[in-house]
Amino acid sequence: MAWDFSTEPELEEKLEWVRTFVREEVEPLEVLFPGCEFLPLDEERRRIVDPLKQQVRDRGLWAAHLRPELGGQGFGAVTLTLLNEILGRSSWAPIVFGTQAPDTGNAEILARFGTEEQKERYLRPLLEGEIFSCFSMTEPHGGADPAVFTTRARRDGHEWVIDGRKYFSSNAAVASFFIVVAVTDPDEPIHRGASLFVVPRETPGLVIEASHHLYGARPHEPGHSLVRYENVRVPAGAMLGEEGQGFHVAQTRLAGGRLHHAMRTIGMGQRAIDMMCERAMSRYTAGSPLAQKQFVQGYIAESVAELMQFRMAVLHAAWLCDTVGEQAARKEIAAVKFSTPRVIQAIVLRTIQVHGGLGVTDQLPLIGMLTGSIVLGLADGPSEVHKLDLARRVLKDYEPGDPEWPSQFLGRRVEAARAKYGDRVSAVPSIPAVPAE
Ligand SMILES: Cc1cc2nc3c(=O)[nH]c(=O)nc-3n(C[C@H](O)[C@H](O)[C@H](O)COP(=O)(O)OP(=O)(O)OC[C@H]3O[C@@H](n4cnc5c(N)ncnc54)[C@H](O)[C@@H]3O)c2cc1C
Repeated sequence: MAWDFSTEPELEEKLEWVRTFVREEVEPLEVLFPGCEFLPLDEERRRIVDPLKQQVRDRGLWAAHLRPELGGQGFGAVTLTLLNEILGRSSWAPIVFGTQAPDTGNAEILARFGTEEQKERYLRPLLEGEIFSCFSMTEPHGGADPAVFTTRARRDGHEWVIDGRKYFSSNAAVASFFIVVAVTDPDEPIHRGASLFVVPRETPGLVIEASHHLYGARPHEPGHSLVRYENVRVPAGAMLGEEGQGFHVAQTRLAGGRLHHAMRTIGMGQRAIDMMCERAMSRYTAGSPLAQKQFVQGYIAESVAELMQFRMAVLHAAWLCDTVGEQAARKEIAAVKFSTPRVIQAIVLRTIQVHGGLGVTDQLPLIGMLTGSIVLGLADGPSEVHKLDLARRVLKDYEPGDPEWPSQFLGRRVEAARAKYGDRVSAVPSIPAVPAE
């Protein structure tokens, strides 16, 4: 009997430390340094944030998403889920634990596919938490369908020359380097004709045309940039992975990243439920606390049940990643990916409702969570695309049948039962006669 939902006491002890640490030491950073998560640390922030990062390192919890040989802790996906669901409570926690997107995914592909030189130059400082990075794939005219990408990289002697424009390049404004997806062979389908390049920010021709912000974000946040690559020259050694393998490499980054978002969403959902319950217990209306209104009890019960189911689905996908590998868990990851925004949106909307007018003000983090939940249905591929992908994978296991009568049609089932057992019974269906009155 191998099913086991228990956590080893040693790990549970660590997780308990993380819960207290995030609640007491990290959550205050959200109001102390709002929207500064992705800004390089100035002296003031460094005085507070560096010692917190050091505590995480001392506990052996830094950069937990990477295997030890890649510079991380080698926890595996299930343990990472148990950790990330706590970190998801706070926007600062991933920074303090060295697990913030998109740097996690960028570190992962540099670690897996990078040359020794690329690892030394980019991965090492990234893992030290001293720099930020950018993944530059989406283009202004389309992101969901990579076949429309037009950014090109042409070989010129020992160099590659990149030309094109990218949109939604998160953190471009603060990134020290960019991982750029570019078409290297337009005659091949994009899945065999694109490659990745690591481009240092100071490279001539790399121009940030504009940085757009999510609604409600602060102007000092780095945001999501429109980047122009104009005659950007990089040496041949700037290619990350093999020529033409850009999408294969990017996929390994995105699959894990999607699951990381889902793991953190559990924590965000729990925080919203905690807020909903606290308010329900505290606020009186029409003669009783909100907690005694059946509608509100329904909100709480539905939210808890939905989060429980979601958490189990994420843990199961993570367990598959650990036991049979990410590739074999593609269906589960896709299901989790498009469930993530739906689950968190439903919970946050109920939490807002229970808070009344206060819920939609900038005095509570709820509208920010709601915006975040919408983003989860877009970034790393829109929900529709993941639904199509899941349905395609599921349908592969089915064959077409009779176009007139489905196999579960009663007539067909009787026929099948007759063929199997008909010689042993007097009739199919074989049912007792109704006793006379
Ligand atoms: C906050 C944020 C951060 C991001 N960060 C990055 C980043 O760092 N790097 C990066 O490269 N990109 C990033 N993105 C871009 C993201 O990956 C794209 O937004 C996403 O892939 C969708 O592309 P699009 O916005 O161009 O939408 P489009 O491709 O124009 O699609 C629009 C809509 O069409 C529908 N649709 C699309 N395809 C299908 C289909 N096959 N079937 C049915 N319906 C479909 C969906 O509803 C979709 O939302 C980020 C996006 C956001 C919102």
